[in-house]
Amino acid sequence: MAIATINPTTGETIKVFDSLTDEEIAHKLALGQTAFQQYRYTSFLERSHWLQQAATILDQEKTEFAQLLTLEMGKPLKAAIAEVEKCAVVCRYYAENAADFLADVTVKTDASHSFIKYQPLGIILAVMPWNFPFWQVFRFAAPALMAGNVGLLKHASNVPQSALAIEDIFHRAGFPVGVFQTLLIGAGKVADLIADDRVKAATLTGSEPAGASLAAAAGKQIKKTVLELGGSDPFIVLESADLETAVNTAVTARMLNNGQSCIAAKRFIIAESIADQFEKLLLAKFQSLKVGDPMQPDTDIGPLATPDILQDLDQQVKIAVKSGGKILTGGYALSDGAGNFYPPTIIIDVPPVHPIAKEEFFGPVALLFRVADIDAAIKLANDIPFGLGASAWTNNQQECDRLIQEIEAGAVFINGMVKSDPRLPFGGIKRSGYGRELSIQGIHEFVNVKTVWVK
Ligand code: NDP
Repeated sequence: MAIATINPTTGETIKVFDSLTDEEIAHKLALGQTAFQQYRYTSFLERSHWLQQAATILDQEKTEFAQLLTLEMGKPLKAAIAEVEKCAVVCRYYAENAADFLADVTVKTDASHSFIKYQPLGIILAVMPWNFPFWQVFRFAAPALMAGNVGLLKHASNVPQSALAIEDIFHRAGFPVGVFQTLLIGAGKVADLIADDRVKAATLTGSEPAGASLAAAAGKQIKKTVLELGGSDPFIVLESADLETAVNTAVTARMLNNGQSCIAAKRFIIAESIADQFEKLLLAKFQSLKVGDPMQPDTDIGPLATPDILQDLDQQVKIAVKSGGKILTGGYALSDGAGNFYPPTIIIDVPPVHPIAKEEFFGPVALLFRVADIDAAIKLANDIPFGLGASAWTNNQQECDRLIQEIEAGAVFINGMVKSDPRLPFGGIKRSGYGRELSIQGIHEFVNVKTVWVK
């Protein structure tokens, strides 16, 4: 895949980049390693100051950065601005809390003094996707750098300018040279990087095949990985739910980022008694959404990020229809003019046992299922290989308790949509990956948890 900015709204190639040569990669690895030897001894106060500076830059230049995100991957500009703002929030969160999260913890034992000490590991490789080109990276980098690690970023090949902009932000914020570097390389170079002794661990957000490939390469080298992969989150609405709020939230939860979010609600599991009403309300909302140029303030849905994503989604919808599904709205790629546009789509009656019902639809497509009761809702929600998030709607306390207890996912949100928050851990189970990002758990992923015992 070429490393290039190709505007998904027009199909126009804006800028093409050469992949780094092996010598250039070697140079960056050496620079990262040298930087680590010094950086690991910097204080939390210094790191915190640099990260606060990064937050300030993000806030001050959010419109320019947001335009870049929209240009490279097509999310509506207002969503891109919100993404950049959230990056500033995560920087401030770790700038303020990392010292506490990584403070020594005394544990009483038979020693005169025994405690846990958290130490940085070294170079951490981050392989990141294009869907939230800034957020995915800052979510990794803020805790990693506060912990005293240094970062190497291999970003998705379709967002090279975003990748370079992030490196520039850390540089301008004052972080020492080499502490955060972007490598413009293809996926084929990742295994060699992981095999390098100086790279201590890796994190990947993206598809299952990419995650499996990275984890296999890291496994060969006995190196830790954190994987944040796909999901097909359920959005369960039971009879006692506030239907109007549930429908409004369903639209946002499905359409966020033009439908290309791992934690988007993708399978809508509705109690039979309210299903007609839910369907009618959702249909009206989907049909009122404006698809178009993501730079325009009134656009709700921009283009999908690449022609491949569009083609894959179109194919999935065709299979869903073949399996018995019926289209209520949308259901075909928009072919008038250039750009990777796909309209808001609702599909009903897909047999839940059909393999297509268990796939992730990475675009503005909602699958609707009807269930008799909460037992059937939980069974259907859990009957997929993924386990990232789940949103469930009820005003019945017993149902609420059961949903929290029985849903198989890394997160359950009751009467709200699944979202990431720097204060809460984020990650999945099953084929959605392992490890956690954000919160105290996120910063503990890439540290040596050293036991110290003094007689
Ligand atoms: P990929 O998983 O292919 O890309 C994500 C990142 O992984 C990119 O940096 C990519 O580099 C890299 N990568 C790809 N293959 C390998 C590999 N074998 N070894 C190491 N790194 C690799 O996602 P796609 O863009 O192809 O999207 C396909 C599907 O993935 C989507 O439809 C969606 O289901 C899922 N996805 C999930 C995301 C999430 O947030 N969990 C985000 C994006 C996608 P390069 O760009 O150079 O190929």
